[in-house]
Amino acid sequence: MLQALILPKLNLEILSSVCKSKQYRIIVCHDLSNLEAISCVERGFSAFERTSKMLCFMLPLIVLLIALLITLSFILIIILLIVFKAFFLSTQRIFKSLYPRKRMNIPITFLGTGQAIPTPRRNHTSILLQYKDENILIDCGEGTQRQIRKAKLNPCSITKLLITHWHGDHILGIPGLLQTLALSGYNKQLEVYGPRGTLFHMNKIMNMFVFQGAIKYKVIEVEGKFFENSDFALEALPMTHGAPCLAYSFIEKAKTRINKEKLEKLKIKGKIIAQLAQGKDILWNNKKIKAEDLTYSQPEKKISIILDTSLNKNMEKIAENADLLICESTYTKKDEDASGFKYHLTAEQAAETAKKAKVKKLILTHISQRYEFKEKFILAEARKIFKNSEVVEDLSKVEV
Ligand SMILES: [Zn+2]
Repeated sequence: MLQALILPKLNLEILSSVCKSKQYRIIVCHDLSNLEAISCVERGFSAFERTSKMLCFMLPLIVLLIALLITLSFILIIILLIVFKAFFLSTQRIFKSLYPRKRMNIPITFLGTGQAIPTPRRNHTSILLQYKDENILIDCGEGTQRQIRKAKLNPCSITKLLITHWHGDHILGIPGLLQTLALSGYNKQLEVYGPRGTLFHMNKIMNMFVFQGAIKYKVIEVEGKFFENSDFALEALPMTHGAPCLAYSFIEKAKTRINKEKLEKLKIKGKIIAQLAQGKDILWNNKKIKAEDLTYSQPEKKISIILDTSLNKNMEKIAENADLLICESTYTKKDEDASGFKYHLTAEQAAETAKKAKVKKLILTHISQRYEFKEKFILAEARKIFKNSEVVEDLSKVEV
């Protein structure tokens, strides 16, 4: 409670000393006759003091309350996110169970895209095609196993090795890769396919680097359709090169797929579904159900790989109607005579083959070092004839 001493103005000095000793406030009042005003000032001080005290007490409480609100908001947001994620995942699961699975894309990684002499940007040739449990390596030039690591792939996942021919830039990586597989406890049987002479060369490698018995493998010299299971087939046709050489095609088979949504509507369950998948009509609850009403056809998918060759008829044949043609394009037409390249293709020849074979997309690889940073000339030449052409770089990835 504020106490007030009311003194004439002249005694201010005395008042000051009294106030200091008793901790009064000094109120200078010019009109002492107006006691009402003094009283107001006194009340004002009291109110000010009360407000200050209240504020001192309330402020930490307000800060605490705000902090609590912020914390609660964060917790609420986290709970909402968890609930939303759980809802989203369960919805996805429901949708997956109701609708047929989307067709799987086939990833292809270009581990090396250079020609005989590698450059800092282009390693020796190697391509990895992944399909379900299969990891098919097409050629294995020097440094391929390091490129596999750079692409964050596992060399032990390789199941098949397809060799186009036995020139160094396509096979010098095989001994190193085999050593890594042997040291990494490779537990599959590596299937090696290649042209005539592959058995002889593989045996030499196995003996030279003392790999015999280190890993399981089998070597088959092939031509035509050489592998087939229920999902895909592999084909090879001879090319024209300085050594026996093959071009390959990977063909995912056309399939009859079940429309799961319709299946669930009719509540059809059990082994009888397999008959629908085979295109057979079924009898369900004494009702004849046509297979064609509950199924749809998934077309064939084809990827063809032509490396190291001069122009020949088999190119068009192996690439016919492919979804993707991967083709060597060592040089451009302008350099054809001066280059000294033998048994190789120009961008123009690769593009003409793509056009004649009616492929959907053309990817050019096996680029000569003379086009380092000048790949645009190769691309421009190809696009004049076949618009959907690309030149790939090392570690590029495409999906078909
Ligand atoms: Zn080559």
